[in-house]
Amino acid sequence: MSISLTQGMRTVQIDFPPSSAIFDSRPFPAVVADRGPPLSRSALRKIFVDAKSGELLSVHNPHDDSLVSDKIHAAGPEDVDAAVKAAHKAFKGDWGRKDPTDRAKAMLKFADLIREKAGEIAALETKAMGSAVATQTMGYNVGADLFTYYAGLADKIHGEAAYPSSAGKYKIIQREPIGVCAGIGAWNVSAVLFAWKAAPALAAGNTVIYKPSEKAPLGTLALGPLIQQCFPPGVINIVNGAGKTGQLLAAHMEIRQIAFTGSTATGRKIQEAAAKSNLKRVSLELGGKSPSLIFDDADLELAVSKSMEGIVANTGQICAMASRIFVQESIADNFIELLKGTFETASKGNMIGDPSLADTQVGPLADKAQFKRVMEYLEIGKKDGQLVTGGIQRGTNGLFVEPTIFKNTPNGSRIVQEEVFGPVVTVQTFKTEEEAVQMANDTVFGLSACIYTKSISRALRVTRDMEAGTIAVNDWYFPAPDTPFGGVKQSGYGREGGLEGLNEYLQTKTIQIK
Ligand code: NAP
Repeated sequence: MSISLTQGMRTVQIDFPPSSAIFDSRPFPAVVADRGPPLSRSALRKIFVDAKSGELLSVHNPHDDSLVSDKIHAAGPEDVDAAVKAAHKAFKGDWGRKDPTDRAKAMLKFADLIREKAGEIAALETKAMGSAVATQTMGYNVGADLFTYYAGLADKIHGEAAYPSSAGKYKIIQREPIGVCAGIGAWNVSAVLFAWKAAPALAAGNTVIYKPSEKAPLGTLALGPLIQQCFPPGVINIVNGAGKTGQLLAAHMEIRQIAFTGSTATGRKIQEAAAKSNLKRVSLELGGKSPSLIFDDADLELAVSKSMEGIVANTGQICAMASRIFVQESIADNFIELLKGTFETASKGNMIGDPSLADTQVGPLADKAQFKRVMEYLEIGKKDGQLVTGGIQRGTNGLFVEPTIFKNTPNGSRIVQEEVFGPVVTVQTFKTEEEAVQMANDTVFGLSACIYTKSISRALRVTRDMEAGTIAVNDWYFPAPDTPFGGVKQSGYGREGGLEGLNEYLQTKTIQIK
């Protein structure tokens, strides 16, 4: 398959078969895109493997509905087995026992190559799922930063020795890799979701099989030649496919750990498949309906601009979006008026539009299913609450929706309780701090939260009482490589990022010596 991308003044031709798995051995000189020697078909065949399943998937560009490809291979049982076999061989061979500094070197090289190619690979994401190329470029750079961060931890995995020894035994606690680890990701920021899983797993000495979403498979697949240049065969394998392929990974008897990012509904299926197969370890990064609490002592201008950023970034398709705003009654009218003005100014400007343009910040929704879902929620919002602005499709071409605000929505409404995953926010009011916390916690989710106040004691009190895995004060929450990210309640469990992210991929072995 060949994909043409126009980036500014130049056209880049990316040539690769959109196949399933990557697990060949020979070092490979060429890379994606227009630099370096072109890839020969036979050379590409050594990286990309056609799916034996024979099943093909299609991707359409949500900006103009053009067909991106209808020949994207979906891995079936035989393909998944082949990837597991390759990953297992790599784990039992060189990689699992490699000097950690060598693992770190490979990861650092990979991080550099991702940075070099970030813009080009990001353009593939944009083509498949409509997110602004600037957003996805940032995503690939964050992905590279995660590999850099975890490369730094690869040689700092220490065990413990118990002393003084009891019962005449000397005790050693070793921290070891788990084996073959699988990752399954959503489509909204493919690079980050991939790196959150692969980077700590590799630093700890595991090998990885990763399945991107069928809505955005191309960017992750384009990492293939870069993987080939940095890692021994079988260390990272990408299996492409839809939910069926994910299910095969979740139920596989030889996979020891699975890290999932996606909806709560699919998270349940993963957990069930893990329980019914080999009881593999599971970590789940699931949905969110994150609250933003705006107190009357907040910097109002800051709260308004961050509230907008926190719901329109990536067209509202980020799990930690602050999609439920609670504002103190005394400043509510003023806040809503200012927020409405900011939304409408953004809508009139060139912030929203063709996602392949460098200045665009907000593109269309990812695909027709996502568009339909958001439009249905807009109708629920109009029925249950009061529309402040937006509420309609934007234009007639492409899957765009106007950034939308609803007010006076009852807490029990589906627009308040369910994840929309689009640029749609509800605004409710509160009188007291206690009421704000109670309303904010009245959800099955607990991924993130924002608090706007100038009082440090209030910020500390409220952060203590909030049921959320991550909290931002005077900002919306944006994950960083060196801190753990993840949810509580039905937003999942397990953490990605930081030292906690590394610990997910290690198990202890206790040795007693008499
Ligand atoms: P999804 O429908 O749950 O899909 C997520 C991934 O799971 C995709 O790769 C999907 O494959 C795969 N999948 C589907 N059914 C499966 C099954 N039965 N077994 C195994 N895998 C299966 O979620 P999505 O629509 O892609 O993503 C949106 C959701 O992700 C939102 O809820 C959002 O909040 C959440 N999210 C969470 C975080 C976080 O860090 N907490 C970050 C980003 C997104 P196909 O798509 O190819 O069918």
